[in-house]
Amino acid sequence: MQNDTTAPRTALVTGSSRGIGRAIALRLAQDGMLVAVHYGSDAAAGQETVDLIAARGGRAFTVAADLGSYDGVRSLAEGVRAGLAAHSRDAGDAGLDVLVNNAAVTSSGGHLQDETVEQFDRLFAVNVRAPYFLVQQLLPVLRDGGSIVNIGSGVTRIALADELAYAMTKGAMETFTRTLANVVGARRITVNTVAPGPTQTAGLTAALAAMPQLEEMLLGGQALPWVGQPEDIADPVAFLASPEGRWITGTVIDASGGTYLGPKR
Ligand code: NAP
Repeated sequence: MQNDTTAPRTALVTGSSRGIGRAIALRLAQDGMLVAVHYGSDAAAGQETVDLIAARGGRAFTVAADLGSYDGVRSLAEGVRAGLAAHSRDAGDAGLDVLVNNAAVTSSGGHLQDETVEQFDRLFAVNVRAPYFLVQQLLPVLRDGGSIVNIGSGVTRIALADELAYAMTKGAMETFTRTLANVVGARRITVNTVAPGPTQTAGLTAALAAMPQLEEMLLGGQALPWVGQPEDIADPVAFLASPEGRWITGTVIDASGGTYLGPKR
């Protein structure tokens, strides 16, 4: 699909009912994009993201889909195409400019000897298979000059034994990023990964409340002196999705405040 400079820019952010995905959706809406807010099961949280965007003068709609199944991926792609057509001011143009593959599951206690086949398969289904086939389904409506941003993780750089299979899924997404960039580059579509470190979404907020010394531990391992916030991830995503990011593709941007760079002195 050709880029129509008169049409409003559009984005899909998977898993944007909360956490980092919500911050990305808010940021892209602030940049003037019509945003498809995807969620898995929590419809109220998805609607809350849409309401927050609307309260700030932006435009968004929700799409539900379980990304653990291929049918869910297909239904998300269909829902996004239908939503863009319904919400686009120019009804004839339902193109997508930005696809952010953010939704993912993590394994709690995912040590090698504790991992189950079911949990391993679930991790790869949601974190790897879903974004792969979502890109396949949406490439025909992704406009030339658009962007794909995958949300990775610092766990591909830092070995954490209890997140082994999860880290493998994020490693697969880095490979996907690099090779896909070459596949779609002729259409001026960029593909990048933004890799957060520990970021204060609900899970980390609960952990910090339960274990106050955790904040000091986190800061001790980082170059920058604050706990990473969802907005700290949303800003580099918005940059990659903007015209200013047009020459950056196939790469991984570490957005971890400099986690585990090495000894501080
Ligand atoms: P989160 O708060 O757990 O939110 C996950 C989002 O993904 C929710 O919107 C959830 O929707 C959706 N989701 C989860 N499983 C799904 C499924 N099977 N089908 C459809 N949707 C599903 O996540 P987060 O902490 O913001 O993390 C966002 C991204 O950053 C992930 O890729 C994660 O790996 C990465 N990351 C996070 C951190 C961190 O410290 N937070 C660090 C490094 C990397 P529902 O609730 O409706 O299911």
